[in-house]
Amino acid sequence: MTARIIDGKAIAAGVRAETAVRAGRLASAGTVPGLAVVIVGEDAASRVYVRSKAQACEAAGMRSWVHAMPADTPLDRLVAFVHELNLDPGVHGILVQLPLPGRLDARRVIEAIDPAKDVDGFHYQNVGALVVGDPAFYPCTPWGVMKMLEHEGVAIDGAHAVVVGRSTIVGKPMALMLLNAGATVTICHSRTRDLAAQTRQADILVAAAGRARMIGADMVKPGATVIDVGINRLPDGTLCGDVDYAPVAEVAGCITPVPGGVGPMTIAMLLANTVRSAERAAGFALAAGETRIA
Ligand code: NDP
Repeated sequence: MTARIIDGKAIAAGVRAETAVRAGRLASAGTVPGLAVVIVGEDAASRVYVRSKAQACEAAGMRSWVHAMPADTPLDRLVAFVHELNLDPGVHGILVQLPLPGRLDARRVIEAIDPAKDVDGFHYQNVGALVVGDPAFYPCTPWGVMKMLEHEGVAIDGAHAVVVGRSTIVGKPMALMLLNAGATVTICHSRTRDLAAQTRQADILVAAAGRARMIGADMVKPGATVIDVGINRLPDGTLCGDVDYAPVAEVAGCITPVPGGVGPMTIAMLLANTVRSAERAAGFALAAGETRIA
């Protein structure tokens, strides 16, 4: 069997096109959606991510501001700045780029964000609401995965989904979203005994461990949908996912590549969340068929 490739770039382009239309409609009514990104310190990878988020905003007809702060910024100053953004009516989404320099308590900063502008979906209020199934914003990466599954017509209701990884940003919200959509969900992590025995049960396998090519073909049920969230840089500088792509593609039913899979979806969903936030602020209702949050 050779798996169908799930083209994250194409699906993300569709989401971005819809987002641009909605941003244009808002702008015509006097509200330009705006995303404020706060970055602290000099982490090179974070700066690349932040730049691409800002460029994507502009391409969709939205405003973006990148607020770069020095690595020695005191926590109180950072929290006060987030409070200023909360009060700015031109800012509809606030994103604090993680990781923060080690001495800063990221949780304190995230909790300072107004949950109505928390387009990453990391505030306790949105995390808690996700458990109930009704957050203001879904976290962008797992929401992007859900959109890919929807786009590909993958049946979630009644399926057995296995998520490898239990982080707050990816693994746990991913598992909750699949659960809320009717899947039977197994969450695996570094302490899981016999990981392969778990992953072989999966109709839908989501790998989010950050371990290069750790999911081999012998860990995948024939015909399964394999979603690779992992982004790993190999010693030769190339990127690869958590899935050993070529051999797994011989077993899986459909599979996401790295790069060009989940990555483009994350930014697309960030834009969608920001536009949705602006629509709420402007009192816009969703039209039929539009990307809804809850
Ligand atoms: P974390 O490091 O926060 O979490 C990794 C998780 O994987 C942990 O729960 C860990 O278990 C588990 N894990 C690690 N090694 C193993 C193993 N050998 N077997 C089973 N489980 C294991 O990472 P993130 O969740 O933030 O990110 C995961 C990956 O996804 C990374 O490669 C990251 O770069 C990528 N990523 C990609 C995005 C995209 O847009 N495509 C966005 C965000 C992340 P334990 O909890 O026990 O330590």
